[in-house]
This record gives sequence, C-alpha cells and structure tokens, in this order.
Amino acid sequence: VECFGRPSPLVPYHLGRTTTHEIGHWLNLRHIWGDDNGACTGSDFCDDTPNQGNYYFGCPPYPQNSCGSSDMFMNYMDYTDDACMNIFTNNQTSRKKAAYTNFRSALWVSFKETITINSAGVDYIFTTPSGEPFAKLNFASLGTATKATVEVFPNLYPLNIPPGSKAVKRYFDITTDGTGYEATLTVYYNDSEVINFINGDNNLKLWRFNGSDWVLKGGTVDPVANTVTLAGVNEFSLWALSDPEDNPIPVELMSFSSSVDVNNVTLSWLTATEVNNQGFEIERISFIDNKTGEWEFIGFVQGKGTTTEASYYSFVDSRFNARQLQLQAKTN
Ligand SMILES: [Zn+2]
Repeated sequence: VECFGRPSPLVPYHLGRTTTHEIGHWLNLRHIWGDDNGACTGSDFCDDTPNQGNYYFGCPPYPQNSCGSSDMFMNYMDYTDDACMNIFTNNQTSRKKAAYTNFRSALWVSFKETITINSAGVDYIFTTPSGEPFAKLNFASLGTATKATVEVFPNLYPLNIPPGSKAVKRYFDITTDGTGYEATLTVYYNDSEVINFINGDNNLKLWRFNGSDWVLKGGTVDPVANTVTLAGVNEFSLWALSDPEDNPIPVELMSFSSSVDVNNVTLSWLTATEVNNQGFEIERISFIDNKTGEWEFIGFVQGKGTTTEASYYSFVDSRFNARQLQLQAKTN
C-alpha cells in the first residue's frame, strides 16, 4: 500500500508506478510476461508486446531477451523499478479503451464526436473509442448542414427532469452547423439502463428538449439492437429516452394563466402534448400572515389521455380566499 501513489518512502517503487500498474489491471491489462513462470506459453493478449518469459526486477540494461525476442521490460505491466517504466503499447491502449466503454463505462462523463456530413441517404455512425455506436444520423436532405456533433452523457439523467419521472440514465446533445435539413435519428441504450422500467425497453420513446420543456417526439424501438429511431427530425438539441407509460417526463405546459374577479379565480392552461394523462389535480396553497399553509385539494380536471394536439383547459375556484394560488398538474 505504501507504493500506491507518490511521494512514497519505498524506493525504488516510490514514483507512483505501482498505481499505474494496478489501474492497468483494473482496465483489463495482463502482466506483460503472461504469468507463465518463464514458459513462453502465456500471453497478455497484446500482439505488439513481445513474448516474454518472466518478469524483471530492478533496472536491467537494454536489451534483454527471452522466448526468442527482445523483452519490453520498461512496460508498466512488468515489475521493474518505477524509474525504468515508461510505456503502454497501442494494443494495451486498445484494451483499456474497450474496458472504458464496456465494464468501466461508469467512468465516463461524456463522449463527443463530430462527423462531416456531405451525402444524403448515408448512415453517419457516432462511436466510442472502442467502436461501440451511440448514435446514428441519416439525412434525407442536408439543407445547409455540413457537419454534425453528437455528445452522449452515458451515466447522467437528462437535465431538468423533475423528481419522480423516469428516464434512461443517458442523454444526447446533438448540434449541426446548418438548417433546413431533415434527418433520421437513431440513439443507442444499454439493457442495464431499463431494468427498472415496467415495459423494459419495449416502449422507449425519444424526447427533445425545446429550451424549457421536454417534448415527446416518438420513435420506434428495436429491443434487440437496443436502438430508438425517429424520422423527420428537423431541429436538434438535447434528446432523452423515457417510457410514456411509466412515470414519464411530464406533460408539456405551453402556457398557464390566472384571472381574478371579486369571488372567483379562473385558471387557464394549454398543453402541447399529453402522455397517458388522466387529468389534473388542482391544489391550492395559502399564504396568510407570511406563513405558508398546506396544499389543499380543490378539484379535478379530466385530461385527454395521450395526444399530440394542443389542449386548452380551465378551472374556476369560487371559494377564493387565498392571497396567492398555485397549480400542480399530476399526470397519473
Ligand atoms: Zn500486477
């Protein structure tokens, strides 16, 4: 443990390379000599590290040979002194990147790729460093777009999701440098991200953030390929995945207003889309003498279920005696 990090009193393992070595293991790297006690039969599964008989201690002079080749004893995955280690190979880096994108993917905050868009009808696939796709764009028409950027946040819930609503724990930030395009968007998810959904991944839909609200855009899920695809997209921004039947991102309120006459308060509101919306519970809270009261149920307005049509609602509270009113819309 005293070798872990630096400075450490344990010369010659005092320069932090024990940590480099152990994180190498954590990212799926093997010892460079293949752990075969000198037999030349073991492998570290990297083609660009020469076959090596056993480990080296100390700081041996170059070259050192075993198994018919010159040994890479200066590799971080050998046992040489910290001061004599200085290399990971390309194949080792590939194994680490594969680990990042698979069983160590929780390390990611985001991954972003920009692709030049120059042909209609072509699949542009955005991939992680190890080649795993996370989004795909196919432009039916390019408009003025010449490039597109997709950034995936694979371990974060979408921004501005209210407590209690359920969304896949990843979201996408998509931008282009043009307008007037029409694209088919495909995004990828992992099965592990939908295990607590009542429908699993069978009813995932795409939602787009319009700057203030998440709007249900629809899409078709492929539970085998783990994709959701939506055609006819002509504006991008943030995109997320949620199941409209399972505590989804709530209805989009386009506007809300209230008017007061002597005894009545009229509440009016407009929704842009609704998903499985039984209705709105109207609650009132009073502020009297600068003290906040309890929320009080005062009525219910039936919703439209699921619709992408704009819907107008109003409610009259004739027992007006509060100085301030607020409305809460509950969608289940
Ligand atoms: Zn080791």
